[in-house]
Amino acid sequence: MAEELPERESMEFDVVIVGAGPSGLAAAIRLKQLNEDLNIVVLEKGAEVGAHILSGAVVDPSGIDALLPGWRDEEGHPFKTAVTRDRFLLLGPSGSIALPNFVMPPLMNNHGNYVVSLGNVCRWLGEKAEALGVEIYPGFAASEVLYDDNGAVIGVATGDMGIERNGTPGPNYTRGMALLGKYVLIGEGVRGSLAKQLIAKFGLDEGREPQKYGIGLKELWEVSPEQSKPGLVQHSFGWPLDARTGGGSFLYHLEGNQVAVGFVLHLNYKNPYLSPFEEFQRFKTHPAIAPVFEGAKRVSYGARAISEGGYQSVPKLSFPAVLCSAVRRGWSMFRVSRAHTMRCCPACSLPSGSWRPLRQGVPMTRSPKSRQIGATARLDAI
Ligand SMILES: Cc1cc2nc3c(=O)[nH]c(=O)nc-3n(C[C@H](O)[C@H](O)[C@H](O)COP(=O)(O)OP(=O)(O)OC[C@H]3O[C@@H](n4cnc5c(N)ncnc54)[C@H](O)[C@@H]3O)c2cc1C
Repeated sequence: MAEELPERESMEFDVVIVGAGPSGLAAAIRLKQLNEDLNIVVLEKGAEVGAHILSGAVVDPSGIDALLPGWRDEEGHPFKTAVTRDRFLLLGPSGSIALPNFVMPPLMNNHGNYVVSLGNVCRWLGEKAEALGVEIYPGFAASEVLYDDNGAVIGVATGDMGIERNGTPGPNYTRGMALLGKYVLIGEGVRGSLAKQLIAKFGLDEGREPQKYGIGLKELWEVSPEQSKPGLVQHSFGWPLDARTGGGSFLYHLEGNQVAVGFVLHLNYKNPYLSPFEEFQRFKTHPAIAPVFEGAKRVSYGARAISEGGYQSVPKLSFPAVLCSAVRRGWSMFRVSRAHTMRCCPACSLPSGSWRPLRQGVPMTRSPKSRQIGATARLDAI
């Protein structure tokens, strides 16, 4: 069937970035800062930038400080609610103990961080990127990695449309588009479909520990003004999970009477009957938690995989012509705030050396070797 398909139309860029999450957008912005002549495209499968970003998050602003110095003086930035208080609860079936902050690891201290909607942060970063001339195509999923005859990645293709149930092209069939890039950056987030293909094809996880995953379920609520405590960051562990099940909850109070509540479960739980969704719902009935939601309205909800393997599970991140985003790869396993590691994403953290050809506009050849980005050593050193 493949031979019968029409040729894909193609567009050429210097850099093709898959995913308009914090890492993809930060990389696009950084690359434009390094070389404004670069022709950069970002593909985003959500209908708009931020549409698929789940996390109502506590974010360390150090990444943004490094990427966009002076952002604090701008109007309209999305970092509106500074963390005012950290609270840790150990929940039992009917009671709770508040743990003193000094017994918690320093990385759980959120002083200086912000409670944000990460979707709004992405929308804001998207505007910044577009203002610098980055082309962002929302509504287009990259469905296939494209290779040249030498096996080097030359770009990605968007999915074909109008395929019938039986897999054959229907009357409205439209061939996907090929987006060819001298460099390709994969910023799909956890367990991205292209990343999985690339990890398998290039053996990027050889010598690494297997990745471990959790599931994060999250809801955004509009609570009554009496229950709203902007800046309060609360985490809990214990009930309803038993000692054989890892996980815990978060409850972040945002501006505008909004509360982001979520539950993370490590996916190595032993009880086959356990339902992460049901555990999340049970958690909200605990006497220490339920009052927050009295008279409240749920605004949105979702769930997303989380990588939890830590540094030893980070696959190799660079290979011919491709970089994978580091934000999601487990750098900051022990921190609540992960999105700040957008600062550590390859393009952002490599002002010299690795991205020199792009920065200096040096023409790149199609040889896989010459397009190998020497990012690995530097990234491994982070
Ligand atoms: C429940 C939950 C709570 C969290 N809480 C926090 C927190 O409090 N603080 C914090 O700092 N971090 C938190 N995180 C982690 C944070 O969300 C991630 O570290 C961060 O979003 C990763 O950024 P990313 O750009 O790598 O990927 P993502 O944010 O996942 O973005 C990937 C983007 O790529 C798009 N995409 C994926 N595949 C394709 C494709 N094939 N083609 C086109 N587009 C594609 C997606 O639609 C998405 O927009 C939380 C995560 C979850 C799930």
